[in-house]
Amino acid sequence: MNAQATNGRIVKGIPASAGIAIGKAYVLDEQYFCVLRQLIAPEEIEDEIERFHAAVESSQQEINNIREGALEEMPGELPVMLLNTHAQILRDPTLIREIEEHIRKEKHNAEWALKTVLEEYSSRFTKIRDGYFRDRLLDIKSAVERLQRNLILSEEVDASLVEPVILVAHDLTPADTLKLDTRKVLGIATDAGGKTSHAGILAASMDIPAVVGLKTLASGVRTGDTLIVDGSSGMVVSNPSREQFLEYNTKRQKFIYADKELHEQIDLDATTLDGETVRIMANIESSNDLSHLQKHGAEGVGLFRTEYLFLRSAKQPGEEEQYQDYRKLAEFLEGKEAIIRTFDLGGDKLANFNRGQGAEQNPALGLRAIRFSLAHVSMFKTQLRAILRASAHGNIQIMYPLITTLEELQQANSILDEVKEDLRKEGIPFKDPIRVGIMIETPSSVMIARELAAHCDFFSIGTNDLIQYAMAIDRVNEWVAYLYQPLSPAILRMLQMVIRAAGEGGVDVSVCGKMAGDPVYALLLLGFGGVRELSMDPHSIPMMKKTIRSVRMEDARKMASRVVELGSTKEIHDYLRHSIKEILGKDLTSDLFEDDI
Ligand code: PEP
Ligand code: MG
Repeated sequence: MNAQATNGRIVKGIPASAGIAIGKAYVLDEQYFCVLRQLIAPEEIEDEIERFHAAVESSQQEINNIREGALEEMPGELPVMLLNTHAQILRDPTLIREIEEHIRKEKHNAEWALKTVLEEYSSRFTKIRDGYFRDRLLDIKSAVERLQRNLILSEEVDASLVEPVILVAHDLTPADTLKLDTRKVLGIATDAGGKTSHAGILAASMDIPAVVGLKTLASGVRTGDTLIVDGSSGMVVSNPSREQFLEYNTKRQKFIYADKELHEQIDLDATTLDGETVRIMANIESSNDLSHLQKHGAEGVGLFRTEYLFLRSAKQPGEEEQYQDYRKLAEFLEGKEAIIRTFDLGGDKLANFNRGQGAEQNPALGLRAIRFSLAHVSMFKTQLRAILRASAHGNIQIMYPLITTLEELQQANSILDEVKEDLRKEGIPFKDPIRVGIMIETPSSVMIARELAAHCDFFSIGTNDLIQYAMAIDRVNEWVAYLYQPLSPAILRMLQMVIRAAGEGGVDVSVCGKMAGDPVYALLLLGFGGVRELSMDPHSIPMMKKTIRSVRMEDARKMASRVVELGSTKEIHDYLRHSIKEILGKDLTSDLFEDDI
């Protein structure tokens, strides 16, 4: 049982998605996403049991797929044995019977039945001292987790939330966040996470205010408590006093009003006072609602995070499904640029079908992004085919994530050549040549940027990962989130290096990490020279356009050349706080002013 929330308690976390939400808290289960207890009407019981069996079936299917993949691509006995064990557990008649009985007797939904039965197993097994049983429990938990995910995926999980709530959780994975019904979720507050964790990125794309990295909030909040989540400052207030409520309500109104005002000018170009134009693009995670690109004034898509297609579904999306999706985007943009990034699976973005393929000790340093694609060539080829086919319908460009070595880029390019050759033979049209770019997200790619430039058409700097890997911090770990320092001299010098290398290598360079959406950081990036395209979450676009329209590029250049001479984050921070006010006044949101609030 959670402790009673202290009235008026303020916890400071990390702002992840701007805006202010005020509402009732809904505290999620720590282990599984949103396992809600629902009562089933007697006439629905058999359907519920059927739904449970369907989830068992798809879990078995998933295990089979992974097992085949593991046999083919990752020979070695252990993963295969583990998968066999998981398959066996999901066939276990006792387990199946106990869950069915729970659904029948207690009239609970299958998710709740599964959770309860697993808890009973846990308490029984932990009393046994034998190591074999403890290991067995771990296997049962992994197998049941897969089943639970499949059950949850088969349902609108938060359908039972009758009134809109603020979700409070220890953590939300990107896959969890994807399932939120934006009409029912006013805000998000999580203990885990950093400024660039993907759950926060998704919340921003759904316009849901979010604060992450609150460390201990969840244990002090109970479902039903009133919460204020200020996603702009990172403050969360539990059971606010009347004064606090009025203060944040006023702030909320101001935010909404300022946002509305910004949106009135979205169709104006981002041209500086001294006449330089910057293209402002959007990062998107789905092609479901493309109307918001226009709503926020995006001039194209600088980053389509296609892996969310995979994270949404319990099975791998096929070529046709992907093709339709990419084509929809290309046609919608009517000739404007759409940069489709090949899947960045792995890290904190584990696909449902890939869960349990053998947990990695350090997923952020593991088989992620282009490494994953190169290890699963047929999946990669399917995606490239779909992208190429869609390229016949618009201005599509391809981008590879997390390039670390020249060989990776060459290998990806030669797979792309093979796919092109296949399409040619089949007489299927595609754009040729198609522009191919890479994400610069690792210190290694910074150092070899000149060599990489010879094998691609453009760079897009992914500052979220570049900071993660340069500062050696897991971007989802709240305890080291203080080291997410875009203004570290190490980061700024790396950015300057890449931008220079792009110029020398004759390739375009843009930025699509979170830094690109912050007005102050964006000015620095532009000031380094060479960057004339920024891609950000759509909601940041209006403010960015307004900022760029009110500065002189000359001032941005001066500022950028000064900061790289400074030797500490603090000096750079202090210098910028002082000089940015002269250039812009303080009427803008930026990480730089976070401590002022
Ligand atoms: C980045 O790393 O900066 C980036 C844009 O990619 P993602 O956030 O999807 O890892
Ligand atoms: Mg990245």
